[in-house]
Amino acid sequence: MQVTRTHTRTPGGRIAYVGGRYMPHAEAAVHIEDRGLQFADAIYEVCAVSNGRMLDEEGHLDRLQRSLRELQMPMPMPRAALQAVMREMLRRNRLKEGLLYLQVTRGAFRRDHPIPADGRPTLIMAARNLSPAAFEKRRAEGVAVITIPDIRWGRCDIKTTGLLANVLAKTAARKAGAYEAWLVDEDGFITEGSSTNAWMVTQDGTVITRPLGPEILPGITRATVIRALAQAKIPFAERPFTAAEAKFAREAFFTSATGNVMPVVRIDGQAIGNGHPGLITQRLYTLYRELSGAGGTA
Ligand code: PMP
Repeated sequence: MQVTRTHTRTPGGRIAYVGGRYMPHAEAAVHIEDRGLQFADAIYEVCAVSNGRMLDEEGHLDRLQRSLRELQMPMPMPRAALQAVMREMLRRNRLKEGLLYLQVTRGAFRRDHPIPADGRPTLIMAARNLSPAAFEKRRAEGVAVITIPDIRWGRCDIKTTGLLANVLAKTAARKAGAYEAWLVDEDGFITEGSSTNAWMVTQDGTVITRPLGPEILPGITRATVIRALAQAKIPFAERPFTAAEAKFAREAFFTSATGNVMPVVRIDGQAIGNGHPGLITQRLYTLYRELSGAGGTA
């Protein structure tokens, strides 16, 4: 991989934030005894940026604080200060379309499993440009998913960096020529995608997604889409659904900060509906963009 070394003052250089400093991205690093590296003792958030604005910013910060609370990790700085750093990252990276990545680790300590009493978390941020064209193509065509057993731990509602099972699942999907993997629990129900929440639309037009619980991440995009469904008075139910049911759905889609509302047109090779993005899915995408603060559908 080619690494471009750029100085902070070089226009166009990618800037990261770590340990209280803005740094050239290629030089930003944490200590080898950081507990994020040693134990995945860290939580993260990914915020989409569109038209230079963060989508669902407050929702992502609420979830960040919840993840920290669940792991008895302190906030690295007050919320308003964190938001100021986030804005500064957008400014320094001239980020208009892309992602802002935040991670809070427990910090660097001599390696030992118990959580150290003195909290000194490490805050990391990185910015990344994304091509709207590649995203639009996927959205226009829809994507394929495969189903695969969910082998993750019992607290998937906490957004930790312990993502190895998700990494393996996504890799299996890509090897199978699919874009995403939907994870299936021991009873045959889909929990969620490897980095997305899973949805289907029944033949009678009811939108379905699994209820929140320790088996899934409470997606911020999911929450905004649920608000959109209520506002548009589209029939909606939170209940588990099986892979078999999803394969005979009228429509299917997934949600995430990076994918927004993404049509799923094939599950395990089987076409969903007529094999093209569904109308309810497309409508939800438009409604989501309005509600999340992205404005139009640009
Ligand atoms: N589930 C998992 C496992 C994820 O990693 C993500 C992406 N962070 C999501 C769901 C979607 O969540 P959000 O809409 O907040 O991006």
